[in-house]
Amino acid sequence: MQILLAEPRGFCAGVTRAVQSLENAVEQFGTPIYVYHEIVHNTWIVEDFRRQGVIFVDNVDEVPEGSRLMFSAHGVSPEIRETAIERSLKTIDATCPLVQKVHDSAIEYVRNGYKVILVGHREHDEVVGVVGEVPDSIWVVENETEIDALTFGKEEKLAYLTQTTLSISETFQQIERMKSRFPQIVGPPQSNICYATQSRQDSVRKLCQQADVVIVVGSRSSSNSRRLAEQAEKLGVRAFLVDGAAEIPLNEFVGNETVVITACASAPEHLVQGCVDSLKKRWGAEVRSRLV
Ligand code: SF4
Repeated sequence: MQILLAEPRGFCAGVTRAVQSLENAVEQFGTPIYVYHEIVHNTWIVEDFRRQGVIFVDNVDEVPEGSRLMFSAHGVSPEIRETAIERSLKTIDATCPLVQKVHDSAIEYVRNGYKVILVGHREHDEVVGVVGEVPDSIWVVENETEIDALTFGKEEKLAYLTQTTLSISETFQQIERMKSRFPQIVGPPQSNICYATQSRQDSVRKLCQQADVVIVVGSRSSSNSRRLAEQAEKLGVRAFLVDGAAEIPLNEFVGNETVVITACASAPEHLVQGCVDSLKKRWGAEVRSRLV
């Protein structure tokens, strides 16, 4: 068995920043500290902080008045910020600057008279936060069918934005679809898909040419993780999305495969090394690093 370790992989700058912010807050202020939703979408990280006394909430009303509350890397809507102020919470904002840029762009477009079409998953924290900035002037679309169902006129001022962690190829097609339906539409030069998402998807796409199997280290709640596994499957390569070594289905390997291992932007490196060690122990796998 040969293991190709994808490069780049794992933590992006936004996740590093959010995790360090929470580590610093725990060290400086002690616990309990409250976090609105998961600080990043990774089960191991969230559980580790829980053990230290961090409390994750889905509703700001659950946070006792005057407590300390952190907003996660995915950002929040103005409504959440207002509720936090009403409850006299001491807030710390760990929103990734690239997510904040999507918020700012939505506000700017609407201020200039545009209606905004946001490509993304409507249940995702990031999308919920951006929609909350301009709720009456934004339409979320998840696929080309939903783009086709939009009924804007040719004379309306339209702009598009995208969630930061989408599939590059699908989003490109969706943008092209919007441009063909609404030639007047404007948007960012490419999309808002962040560099970390793009570079990890590019790496997997290229390594799939040599791979029998791809293991993506990451949680199912992570959009980034699911896109990486989908990317491999679309190229006809078996993919396993695992939270760690214990979830690798070793009985589905025969021992002579070329296995690409990558990690989504919120997966810690020690979980990757755990997967490598597991395959080395079971199959005597050789490891190579692959920067593509
Ligand atoms: S994946 Fe991209 S947008 Fe999300 S936290 Fe990382 S850098 Fe920011």
